[in-house]
Amino acid sequence: MADKPVCSSCAFFEDHHANDDHEIPDAGLCRFNPPVTQPVADAVGLWPVVKESDWCGHFAKEGLAA
Ligand code: SF4
Repeated sequence: MADKPVCSSCAFFEDHHANDDHEIPDAGLCRFNPPVTQPVADAVGLWPVVKESDWCGHFAKEGLAA
C-alpha cells in the first residue's frame, strides 16, 4: 500500500484532542461509530480517542464519507 492509512487523514477523525478539558497530544476523536461508554444516564457518551498515527479497518479517505 503506497500511503499508510492513519487516523489523522481519515474522514472520521476529528482534531479535537479529548472528550473533556484533558488534552492528549497527537490524538483526536474517532467519529465512525456513535459515542460509547455512558457510565450513568445523565452523563454524555464518549467518543473513542485515537492517536493520529493509529488506524483501523474502517479507514476512509477524507472526502469519501458522507
Ligand atoms: S479508528 Fe478507524 S475510522 Fe476511526 S479515525 Fe482511525 S482509521 Fe478512521
